[in-house]
Amino acid sequence: MIPPIASRFVAGEEPAEALDHVRGLNERNVKAIINLLGEHYDERPPAAADAAEYRALVDDVADSDLEACVSVKPSQVGLDLGEDVFRDLLDGIVDRAAERGVFVWIDMEDHTTTDATLDAFEDLAREHDGGVGVCVQANLRRTREDVERLADVPGKVRFVKGAYDEPSDVAYTDRARVDREYRDLLEYAFEHYDGGIAVGSHDPAMIDHAVALHEEHGTDFEVQMLMGVREDAQTDLAREYEVWQYVPYGGRWMSYFYRRVMERKENLLFAARAVLGR
Ligand code: FAD
Repeated sequence: MIPPIASRFVAGEEPAEALDHVRGLNERNVKAIINLLGEHYDERPPAAADAAEYRALVDDVADSDLEACVSVKPSQVGLDLGEDVFRDLLDGIVDRAAERGVFVWIDMEDHTTTDATLDAFEDLAREHDGGVGVCVQANLRRTREDVERLADVPGKVRFVKGAYDEPSDVAYTDRARVDREYRDLLEYAFEHYDGGIAVGSHDPAMIDHAVALHEEHGTDFEVQMLMGVREDAQTDLAREYEVWQYVPYGGRWMSYFYRRVMERKENLLFAARAVLGR
């Protein structure tokens, strides 16, 4: 069992706990992107075990009446071991998901993985007629070109600012510049994409921008936010727009929880209050 302090950001250790959480979300019209926590395996057995758990999760989602999909990290399914392992394990998950009608997102990790991740996405999206999505990061200098390349690929694209500390030769490191890039990428996507735009941000300014672009171009979009972050805003937005919550679960919750707590002063205070019982 995870301690109550972590349960704001992580749905539990077991898939059944994640599915319970999803049921509550669906009741307030929020859909779910379920992520089994795990990354950077340097041996095949844990990567294969997570891939097997994802296939079982896909079956659980398909057998339920829940509005949910899954999201997988490339290094969780073998990218650190080689592109062949990654492709093999990811294909197994996406094949099962396509058979069962469940959507699969591919998360994006640091810039050394971008090519392998986008290539896998493009192949799978074409093979499965858009049943797959990928994340792109506004902080990377290359992303504008990637976003143009992806315009003709079926499937969805999640736009995020980027969570990895990247060197300045490959990334914009100034926050204002990243925000500007994010806005520009959305503008391009709303103008050139045929829907399938996911705004993966908690930033009210970016969401307002997406809403304005939606009103201008009529292009469909969805908002995606993390479990435990701006939950009230998620519920409010879901009254008018499609909203998906990213729901992490699994035994490897500690480092994810630590990242959430450390990224914002408010979260650190929340954790401190919980520990002190106030
Ligand atoms: P920030 O730029 O961090 O903040 C801007 C404003 O948003 C703040 O001033 C505040 O008003 C609001 N805000 C932000 N955080 C909070 C908070 N905790 N509480 C209250 N208000 C807040 N990154 C990757 O590199 N790869 C991925 O695959 C990936 N997937 C993601 C999936 C989802 C669904 C989401 C939401 C994010 C994902 N990210 C991913 C993380 C992303 O790159 C950013 O690091 C993260 O979302 C922070 O940027 P932001 O746009 O939310 O807001």
